Amino acid sequence: MGKKILPKMGFLPKISYFALPFIKRPYILLFNITQKCNLRCSYCFGKYYAETGELSFPQIRKILTEFYDLGVRRLGISGGEALLHKDIDRVIEEAVKIGFDVGLNSNGILVPYHLKSLRLLKNLSISLDGTTAAIHDKYRGKEAFKRALAGIEAAYQAGIPLHFCCTLTDANLKEWPKIINLAKKYNALVQISPLYPRFRGDGGLKLAKAWEKKIKKTLTDIIQEKKNKSSRIFYSENTYRLMLNWPDFTSDISSVRELGHPPCLAGNKFVVLDHKGRLFPCVRLTDSLPGQDCLKMGVRQAYNKLLQPQCKSCRWACYIEYNALLNFNLSAISNLFLNRFSKG
Ligand code: SF4
Ligand code: SF4
Repeated sequence: MGKKILPKMGFLPKISYFALPFIKRPYILLFNITQKCNLRCSYCFGKYYAETGELSFPQIRKILTEFYDLGVRRLGISGGEALLHKDIDRVIEEAVKIGFDVGLNSNGILVPYHLKSLRLLKNLSISLDGTTAAIHDKYRGKEAFKRALAGIEAAYQAGIPLHFCCTLTDANLKEWPKIINLAKKYNALVQISPLYPRFRGDGGLKLAKAWEKKIKKTLTDIIQEKKNKSSRIFYSENTYRLMLNWPDFTSDISSVRELGHPPCLAGNKFVVLDHKGRLFPCVRLTDSLPGQDCLKMGVRQAYNKLLQPQCKSCRWACYIEYNALLNFNLSAISNLFLNRFSKG
């Protein structure tokens, strides 16, 4: 098992020297633990019903331990629906025991059945596209809102730190202020991101173009809201500005480093592990790059053999933010601290 080299720091993020951008060690691991899902959101870009098979608990324990020893301190568990993995409670408990700060993404439905392990998380992110069933369920399906809200309520009552993940579509461009209001009730932060033009064939490309003007207006409004330092919006103002100024909304990646974007540290400071133990630099590239098999070659070799991405920047909110933070961008760091201290 990996050694704990840092004391507990409560609400502060666990930072080690492995986080420094010029040291080639991974610091953040995103683990898509399963491809299964109990929803069928029409905008989902996953292959969530086509691929089967997932790692066993002993395999996961071995891989996570090797990642910890390599330098990873922050683990984000996602899916599919992560809570559908049969050993999810044991995985969370083990990951915390190894020493990771653990976050988990969920659609909320199964949250009430896993409260004991979810209490160990640094944050639980629950998808929430609206504050009514009519809006939230449009792309997520019938009853999704009611069940997500039940999960949110249960997590809040259990004292689990919450994030809401809101995907901007044509259905909810004016909804985010209401989601922020709801977040106040649950002491949550809100991750607002536009739908990325990459789902179910090229349907996303057409939609992204059609919504470009409206999404830009919404991003402008969010930037204005971010100027209010008590806002609960998770991503920094700069990230929204970079998304707003993205040159071509029919694409989400660029082969050049667009103006103002931080250097991309995918495959270096953050990496992605899929449900079969294959390692990739970034979720966006799991279709286009071959994964390196952590089970066959071990984590260190898989990491060293990762192919470097051809893209140099993208308009994915989470990646812009990760890259800014891992490059020690001051506005991203001050946003992180404001998020922790000033929830208005
Ligand atoms: S809940 Fe998430 S993983 Fe499941 S179908 Fe919806 S978007 Fe895809
Ligand atoms: S530029 Fe964006 S999409 Fe490309 S590898 Fe980096 S983080 Fe991933």
